[in-house]
Amino acid sequence: MSLTPKPESKKRFAPATRLVHAGRDPSEQHGFVNTPIYRGSTVLFPTYDDIQNRRGRYTYGTHGTPTSDALCDAWSDIAGAAGTVATPSGLAALSIGLMAALSAGDHLLVSDSAYRPTRIFCDEVLARFGVQTTYYDPLVGAGIADLMRENTRAVLVEAPGSLTFEMQDIPAIAEVVHARGACVIMDNTWATPLLFPPHEKGVDIAIEAGTKYLSGGSDLLLGLTSANAKYWPRLNRTYHQFSVCAGPEDMFLAMRGMRTMGLRLREHEKQGLDMARWLQARPEVLRVLHPALPEDPGHAIWKRDFTGASGLFSIVLKPVPEAALAAFLDGLELFGMGFSWGGFESLCIPFDCTPFRTATRWEPGGPTLRFHIGLEDTADLKADLDAGFARLREVAGQI
Ligand SMILES: *Cc1c(COP(=O)(O)O)cnc(C)c1O
Repeated sequence: MSLTPKPESKKRFAPATRLVHAGRDPSEQHGFVNTPIYRGSTVLFPTYDDIQNRRGRYTYGTHGTPTSDALCDAWSDIAGAAGTVATPSGLAALSIGLMAALSAGDHLLVSDSAYRPTRIFCDEVLARFGVQTTYYDPLVGAGIADLMRENTRAVLVEAPGSLTFEMQDIPAIAEVVHARGACVIMDNTWATPLLFPPHEKGVDIAIEAGTKYLSGGSDLLLGLTSANAKYWPRLNRTYHQFSVCAGPEDMFLAMRGMRTMGLRLREHEKQGLDMARWLQARPEVLRVLHPALPEDPGHAIWKRDFTGASGLFSIVLKPVPEAALAAFLDGLELFGMGFSWGGFESLCIPFDCTPFRTATRWEPGGPTLRFHIGLEDTADLKADLDAGFARLREVAGQI
């Protein structure tokens, strides 16, 4: 018996069902529910004719295994992609997506609110290979037309933006970019394809840092790059030429995470909104940057294009001395201070975008903190932050 729907019938299943059933066929695994970890480099060919013609579903470890097929097929199914490749990190997924789309002499447009290491890759690596990058205001919308040059081959979008959560009108941008024959690349890590189906909305190449919500456990590093039919052959070839394959153990863990990702995301959204509203009402907080809040400037776009929110957002505090901010952060009991996010645990980090944004000015009006809301009881999380605000006021005085 095969529990995996036949390819032609898959689309009739809802996303929650696909998360559970995609990418596994117990009938091929002696009835075991999950596809196991295939570790391997050499794949043996049974005959001279087979090896001469590279015949067989698998030919070498770097060219795919049943484990990588299971993960990538499942992701293509969930993301609505023609194909997906798995890389050892989210940043590697980004660099492969960019390398697949661009050649020497091309021009690239990147949102000013893109993940910072993406910028560094563009400025330091792509520049060395003759690709020039220009940063643009994430709110540009159809106005991207004015920034497109004769040689603009790709436009990178990320919504909401890293750290500052600006929303982008991706369908409007995609329409302009496609009319010019260029490629839309999206970092879709915040929403995952469950909350924003990238390829349905005009994205050609979509990136997911599987390190975050796909893992859900802060215990692995992984990236996924998916493409529509137009860009899939080029992405697949580029991936194999760079040979940046993900580790089998991490791919297995990512598949395990996939089965519960929908459930976890709903809880991160609910808990995140609860905490965001609570923070909004605090006298120490100037502003909450969360597109699912009706007051957020990006709310209309979020509501139109996204079906939900994840648990990551930022706040702007009223101006306080640095020592007050340190007192707030240093005594937190439940919120960890560290990079990455998407696990079961809550996090809080200070950030400052002023040194690296170039197309826009970031003037928040106070210190900024990014929160990831985990699966703890929110009453405990509020008590932890409440104690933090008391420490902050002790140092800062009246706010
Ligand atoms: C974390 C992150 C990445 C990179 O993922 P890594 O696996 O840490 O390399 C890329 N984009 C966004 C938006 C991220 O938050």
